Amino acid sequence: EPDPTLRPEAMKEDVDRALRPQMLDDFIGQAEARANLRVFVQSARARSEAMDHTLFHGPPGLGKTTLAQIMSRELGVGFRMTSGPVLAKAGDLAAILTNLERNDVLFIDEIHRLNPAVEEVLYPAMEDFELDLVIGEGPAARTVRIELQPFTLVGATTRLGLLTTPLRDRFGIPTRLNFYTVDELETIVARNAVKLGVEVQGDGALEIARRARGTPRIAGRLLRRVVDFAVVEGGGVVSRALADSALTRLGVDSLGLDGADRRYLTLIAENYQGGPVGIETLSAALSESRDALEEVVEPYLLQQGLIQRTPRGRMLAQKAWTHLGLAPPKAPGQ
Ligand code: ADP
Repeated sequence: EPDPTLRPEAMKEDVDRALRPQMLDDFIGQAEARANLRVFVQSARARSEAMDHTLFHGPPGLGKTTLAQIMSRELGVGFRMTSGPVLAKAGDLAAILTNLERNDVLFIDEIHRLNPAVEEVLYPAMEDFELDLVIGEGPAARTVRIELQPFTLVGATTRLGLLTTPLRDRFGIPTRLNFYTVDELETIVARNAVKLGVEVQGDGALEIARRARGTPRIAGRLLRRVVDFAVVEGGGVVSRALADSALTRLGVDSLGLDGADRRYLTLIAENYQGGPVGIETLSAALSESRDALEEVVEPYLLQQGLIQRTPRGRMLAQKAWTHLGLAPPKAPGQ
């Protein structure tokens, strides 16, 4: 069974806080996003204005929350954080908005999961820094307009396609975050090792980076796990061989795929002759939600060229057959 704590969505808080880069200069990778943000931050500072609303989208664990926090630090303003599912009523958002100070950053994670009534409140707040509050009920209800302090909304989503168009259109700075290269992850692992006070030898950091699924959060988690093995079995030193054996024992294979990834690929290979097979069918057969497959499992498999998305469903690519050590079925007539 795959270790569920190795999935990015299961490790949001514990490991993350200690390893978060604090300023743009400490943030590795995403060069284009970083360069743009630097300009927008400097401009907002020079004009003493709130920076334009910013939307980060991309798979979990790539640094959306981290960049939002860095923005507030670079801007020298306060940081408030909430998430789409937490804001149940319009009043919940109104309470947060009316408490913001001038030019603060308000971070809303999973912004695609805002309830429509809450989203309605957000539109005038984003556009004009105004809030229309309904006081009372029934015929006695009336609307009062409240002026807000200017603020920067930073939204994060793993599913850009699920954002409503009006919400999406109100972000001046949409920014896509991509999977990290092995080089970038190696630098991140090496820096995290220093922060954790751990000695890494030779290609120890590289081995962890290669198997981190392109994701800094997973790199951080794998490093901590490998360190556990190093402390108990390796004299406290992370070498390549130690990292390799620890990761293999944790069920992370040579491509960085975990048990859930391999179950997904194996199912398509063995039960559907390599596909195409529809996402709902996969979801039912794997007992995983469609969202989890689309947000967490598939993006990396697509990026690695292990699967393809076709109009008729998902298909295994040749690389997946090779990785699984299986022979693809012969086409009819061959
Ligand atoms: P997201 O909000 O996209 O799910 P986070 O911002 O919470 O991701 O980042 C997850 C973890 O990865 C954090 O511990 C963070 O410190 C680390 N991390 C993300 N991006 C980087 C980076 N570019 N350099 C170093 N660490 C990073």
